[in-house]
Amino acid sequence: MSTNPSQPVRLAVLGAGGLGKAAARIIGMKQELRLAAICDSRGVVACAEGLDGEPLAQCSGDLVEGYRRAEGEGGHEAGGALAVATTTAVEAFHCEDPIGELIARAGAFDAVVVALPNLPNEFIPGVIERFARAGHPLVFVDVLKRTRAVERMFALDPLVRDARSVVLTGCGATPGLLAAAAVLAAQSFIEVEQVDIWWGVGIANWEAYKATIREDIAHLPGYTVERAKAMTDADVNALLERTDGVLTLRGMEHADDLLLQRVGVVDDLGQVEVGGVMDTRRPKKPVSTTMTLTGITFEGKRSSHTFILGDETTMAANVIGPALGYLKRGLWLKERNLFGVFGCTEFLPMVVK
Ligand code: NAD
Repeated sequence: MSTNPSQPVRLAVLGAGGLGKAAARIIGMKQELRLAAICDSRGVVACAEGLDGEPLAQCSGDLVEGYRRAEGEGGHEAGGALAVATTTAVEAFHCEDPIGELIARAGAFDAVVVALPNLPNEFIPGVIERFARAGHPLVFVDVLKRTRAVERMFALDPLVRDARSVVLTGCGATPGLLAAAAVLAAQSFIEVEQVDIWWGVGIANWEAYKATIREDIAHLPGYTVERAKAMTDADVNALLERTDGVLTLRGMEHADDLLLQRVGVVDDLGQVEVGGVMDTRRPKKPVSTTMTLTGITFEGKRSSHTFILGDETTMAANVIGPALGYLKRGLWLKERNLFGVFGCTEFLPMVVK
């Protein structure tokens, strides 16, 4: 792993929505990391010498057009793609298959942050499979949420190992930060009875996090992943209009259960309960985010440990911070020739400088 600031880790970010842009900004603040490329569904912005995260984070809508506006430069036709260069080394171009384009350039990265929508459940596992089949040894971190999606990711373990790659899965806030906190909390108990996660998120505008909101809607009674995926923006607006922008979610199918079972914190998936409140119209958190683990000590006492996130910390801070910490752990694993798919509960994240 290159933790030497003179040789920063070269990153590609897949997805340039709310979380992809936050990743671009945070990467820009880290000496150990360099943003080498970012894509959305329509195009790629790439530079081997590193991209400035700030103009990318300010872009709204289409990544390539937004980047051009932010840089105040015109485009030109190059190699069949509309390209713009702010310095000769920066490329910003539209293409049919931006992920395929980044797979073709995978030799230019050490690691990949996946901030794509996961609708349907198999979408992100399918992206990792494409990279692994191309055979470049890379480190990936994703912020997957659903149990079935993380199960699919673990099924890729043999393929990822063959590619001498590392995938750290479920490494956002929940699962991610809160599931890791539950592993630590479990250590005080001889038996864990229950893990309760109750999250609060406030965002000013749902359109900044479309995938997150659609994936949350899929947890509402009467909705499915397929139904949420098929909703138009107007459908989402109409639903949010009926609830004053607030979604209260209970009994969510979140992979915290599988990830905690995997390391022995719980025996049954039913011992983990995840829910929360999403306010899509006000940035203030509607409730504090907590993880409460209840268990019995070796002296026979029932007690709980509670981990509470600061109310001022945003969803982006609590998802991308851990994701980058786990990415550094993934680089550490790869350097030690440990390849495969691992969950957020299996290793502590490191801290990226
Ligand atoms: P978003 O909708 O704001 O952005 C998604 C981005 O992906 C867009 O730039 C879009 O153009 C791009 N994209 C879509 N399809 C693509 C394709 N085929 N090729 C290339 N790019 C493509 O999404 P968001 O709200 O930032 O959420 C991203 C992910 O983060 C979601 O899956 C969400 O569930 C997850 N998330 C996880 C946690 C957690 O705690 N684990 C919390 C919040 C969000």
